[in-house]
Amino acid sequence: MGDWTIRGLIPNIRDWKGKRRGNVDFYVTQLLTGLGSFGQYLYKIGKRATPQCDYCQEIDKAEHTIFVCPRWARNRSEIPANRLTPDILINWLVFSDVNWNWFRRFAGEVLRSKEEEARRRGM
Ligand SMILES: [Zn+2]
Repeated sequence: MGDWTIRGLIPNIRDWKGKRRGNVDFYVTQLLTGLGSFGQYLYKIGKRATPQCDYCQEIDKAEHTIFVCPRWARNRSEIPANRLTPDILINWLVFSDVNWNWFRRFAGEVLRSKEEEARRRGM
């Protein structure tokens, strides 16, 4: 899978969301920008010793968290779409409130768990 390229779209998403669906929340922003509870980011800013995922040893970034990491398979399985891929994520998100709300829920559940589990490990 290629690099995460959602970041460039963020100003547009903010616009669009501001007009139509309210604010982009804290966890959704983390997932869409990759700036947050992700090994790669935390490593880059000196808060982690490695960029690796705590659950599967791959490089941990937003894309990994949303689409790949086995730790979040259960959360991902509730997705109201057959197949979600990085190229269609944004279109999928803005397509309907159901999708958007699913993503918000996914972001909140997953990132809160990551924060709690990291805290428990003393990171
Ligand atoms: Zn992982």
